[in-house]
Amino acid sequence: MYESGYYPPGAEHDPRAPWNEKEPHYVKCEACNGEGCHWHAYNFETNEETECTEETWLCLPETEEEAEAKRQHYIRGEKETCEVCDGVGEVEYEEDYDDYYER
Ligand SMILES: [Zn+2]
Repeated sequence: MYESGYYPPGAEHDPRAPWNEKEPHYVKCEACNGEGCHWHAYNFETNEETECTEETWLCLPETEEEAEAKRQHYIRGEKETCEVCDGVGEVEYEEDYDDYYER
């Protein structure tokens, strides 16, 4: 049921409009490599956070005591939701990407 010419003038290219959501085209989010999140390992010796993979993060100790017992300097740092894809790991492909970000 595609009703062309039914929408208001100038709105046919509105990406949020329901008539343009029929066939969304999703591509892998480049910012998080499709993971949806960014994980960080925290080195409490140097006070530095390094981005790491989920697998690495899950293997890291949660507390400094635990880390020291294992003679490690890394504990779990921040796990943040990817801002670009909102944790989905995919972003809607935009033909005119530049226009999209200027709004
Ligand atoms: Zn992302």
